[in-house]
Amino acid sequence: HHHHKQGAPVSPDSAAAADVFEQLCTASTFKSVLYHYRLLCDVLRLKPTNFRNFYPKLKSKLRSWKAQAIWSKFDKRSSHKCYNHGKACTNSKVLIIGAGPCGLRTAIEAQLLGAKVVVVEKRDRFSRNNVLHLWPFVINDLKQLGAKKFYGKFCAGAIDHISIRQLQCILLKVALLLGVEIYENVSFEELTEPPEDQNEKIGWRARLSPADHPANQYEFDVLIGADGKRNTLHGFKRKEFRGKLAIAITANFINKRTELEARVQEISGVAFIFNQKFFKELYAATGIDLENIVYYKDETHYFVMTAKKQSLIEKGVILRDLQDTQQLLHPSNVDRNALMEYAREAADFSTSYQLPHLDFAVNHYGKPDVAMFDFTSMFAAENACRMVEKRGHKLLSGLVGDSLLEPFWPTGSGCARGFLSSFDACWMIRSFSSGKMMPLEVLAERESIYRLLAQTTPENLSKDHSSYSLDPASRYPTINLRAVLPFQVRTLFNTDDPV
Ligand code: FAD
Repeated sequence: HHHHKQGAPVSPDSAAAADVFEQLCTASTFKSVLYHYRLLCDVLRLKPTNFRNFYPKLKSKLRSWKAQAIWSKFDKRSSHKCYNHGKACTNSKVLIIGAGPCGLRTAIEAQLLGAKVVVVEKRDRFSRNNVLHLWPFVINDLKQLGAKKFYGKFCAGAIDHISIRQLQCILLKVALLLGVEIYENVSFEELTEPPEDQNEKIGWRARLSPADHPANQYEFDVLIGADGKRNTLHGFKRKEFRGKLAIAITANFINKRTELEARVQEISGVAFIFNQKFFKELYAATGIDLENIVYYKDETHYFVMTAKKQSLIEKGVILRDLQDTQQLLHPSNVDRNALMEYAREAADFSTSYQLPHLDFAVNHYGKPDVAMFDFTSMFAAENACRMVEKRGHKLLSGLVGDSLLEPFWPTGSGCARGFLSSFDACWMIRSFSSGKMMPLEVLAERESIYRLLAQTTPENLSKDHSSYSLDPASRYPTINLRAVLPFQVRTLFNTDDPV
């Protein structure tokens, strides 16, 4: 127990805080970011809460040059009119399921709107080496959030990609520094209705595991499903797009950052799909038959390719030719060593044998990071939102990211559409919270915007990236907010109190 000396140039606490802050900024794992953040909050006697009650206090206590540089980014962002000085959604309480890139991106925007925001993540590690292609607006967006301050190598030069893990780390730091409450090792199980006995006016809550976690008591009026393609939120119908058989392989090799490795050319997907000669030569030389291949040099040497089934069988990767794709790619029907060899050969040939070594990086399970995925059928939610009202409590739910619209990795729609969906979901929260729109109007507006999402490309979005905001008109040049009308979304609003 000690007191600060009046007028001391640097108090022991603020020196400690500056040090912890520095470590938080450079931390590169989920655990160490959380650890340093919690330590920082202890030292500064702060608790995560809504933006207006958290951020100004944090800012006043951390004044290093690095901190100042970050605050100036945050100040600029948060001063956009759509947030109304962090008062646009002061009545909203948001629960977000999943701390993937899109859950975190949504959390940041909801926090800037002034809502109370809690994120639950079932894992305690960010372990995906795989690399995401970033559309230009996403790079701009992340730079505006201070990405370079949290990850010095962010999009250096002409590079337009990042490992999923690093992206999560950057967004996690931003979310935490704005005051978002984030819990690791907590899984969303199901919704809990407002209790019958309304003496205490208890509203919507979630059943989480572990069951004794304090977040089980959190009451919210907005629920965002950002839990990836195996979406767990009930009540959302999904439509399936069945294409021809598509098998993707991802592989990550250790990047030792040697001179030789630095010289090897990347292969960006889009241009390569059409290079028939290359694929013929690959097949002739190795028996590997691909439809496309992408190579990004990032923290790892990352390859993603779509392979033809016949060549996987001929090379002994797939053991038996089975009709059902799930069974076909089931671990019991795959020779992992052959798969590793297949991926390594493809990587070697397509980089003209210039990579001096191809040692696999390790995955989440500590095994060589190679994986095979089925993209024969992909899912998209039929609707982006719904609302339920029970015992006087409304609950607005929405999906973002992969749980809304599953991306086809090899062509690199990556997380760009995911970020757009995050912004759109937060625009919906803003409309809901404004109190100026009827429930059906809020839902109809959100569905109108969702209609555009699957068609978006870097070319048909607005070119003025620095003007992007939650306002859909700033991003979609042809947006019609009344493409879907309130009467068309009646089935998305379920109330026990019809008027
Ligand atoms: P995700 O990134 O999937 O995040 C969902 C999060 O929710 C996860 O952290 C998960 O642990 C958590 N979660 C799930 N259920 C619960 C629950 N019940 N309670 C609490 N938390 C929960 N895209 C590419 O473009 N190229 C690739 O090579 C590529 N590889 C991938 C490899 C894997 C293994 C996965 C899962 C995805 C990959 N993707 C790839 C997709 C890419 O990661 C996503 O498009 C991007 O991360 C945005 O997704 P998201 O935030 O919507 O969901």
